[in-house]
Amino acid sequence: MGRSALFDKLPGILAAEPLAQHLAFGIGGEAQWYWECADVDKMEDIVRKCSGEGVPLTVLGAGSNTLVGDAGISGFVVKMVDKRTSVDREHGTITAHAGAMMPRLALDAAKSGCSGLEFGIGIPGTVGGSVLGNAGAFGKEIRDVLLSCDVLLPTGERRTLAAADCGFAYRTSIFKHAYSGATVLRAVFGVTQGEPQRIKAHIDSLSAERKSSQPYGKKSLGSTFKNPGGQKAGMLLEQAHCKGMRFGGAHVSEKHANFIINDAHGSAADVVKLVTQMHEAVFNEMGIDLEPEIVMLGTFRTKEDAS
Ligand SMILES: Cc1cc2nc3c(=O)[nH]c(=O)nc-3n(C[C@H](O)[C@H](O)[C@H](O)COP(=O)(O)OP(=O)(O)OC[C@H]3O[C@@H](n4cnc5c(N)ncnc54)[C@H](O)[C@@H]3O)c2cc1C
Repeated sequence: MGRSALFDKLPGILAAEPLAQHLAFGIGGEAQWYWECADVDKMEDIVRKCSGEGVPLTVLGAGSNTLVGDAGISGFVVKMVDKRTSVDREHGTITAHAGAMMPRLALDAAKSGCSGLEFGIGIPGTVGGSVLGNAGAFGKEIRDVLLSCDVLLPTGERRTLAAADCGFAYRTSIFKHAYSGATVLRAVFGVTQGEPQRIKAHIDSLSAERKSSQPYGKKSLGSTFKNPGGQKAGMLLEQAHCKGMRFGGAHVSEKHANFIINDAHGSAADVVKLVTQMHEAVFNEMGIDLEPEIVMLGTFRTKEDAS
């Protein structure tokens, strides 16, 4: 694929950029071209040009739910870092751009006396990634608080979608299906007014609850598998003796059997082997076909595998 004129004009664009250093999990090969988007309004031009020139476009947030293959991602990879947020007290809304981090949003909302986004403290990803996956924690999901979001379709056409039109269900949305390839630019959340100290105290209690039940301060992707019909995937994996399972530099957390930890030198191949083994363990023991919650992007075959 030749270097497009689009890329020559973009300040800050990097070729053959290792993605591991830009992703929360610390695993992933190179992006053919990599760029950080600090202003979502620049995306329209990029989406149109990528579409016009047939260059694949991949949009990433914090990478807290994404396993990128060891052979990287071909085409143009954009990491969303537009973290701007604004509060509209009169209408009871907070607008957050795609790169805003959910925990920061929860804390900033609390400081402004806005309640409703406290659950974001448990989701170490961006607003864009969280809308795509209808992220949720502590009994609340994005669909409970989102009013609308601005998106770009793969053609570059802008749309504002009401939450009711986003096809939200458990850890999924229309952006994983009919609108696959759309870029989430910003989201508008409905909030209620409250006492900042009380909201912050609620956040602190949720945070403490998380730290007691999940590995904290380690490189992971959160839940590897979705909870199947009313059951806890973590419990099933524990019963199938997955805790402590290891491949190369990745292992299943001893604290929570649905979490894979990268020990700093893990590869995507290690993680894939672990995911396969965990899935098999539960299937063989209980006949339950666990569905991955993590997203896998890019090329997983290495050059050695291919030869
Ligand atoms: C310790 C830990 C705890 C976690 N706990 C939870 C939890 O309680 N609940 C929960 O739901 N998740 C949880 N997660 C998973 C993760 O934080 C969420 O899924 C989060 O919403 C992902 O956001 P991200 O920015 O990291 O997305 P990424 O991993 O960067 O991307 C995820 C997907 O979204 C796409 N994407 C990202 N940004 C955009 C955009 N702007 N437009 C279009 N597509 C986009 C990517 O292409 C990819 O397909 C946890 C993860 C960790 C590491």
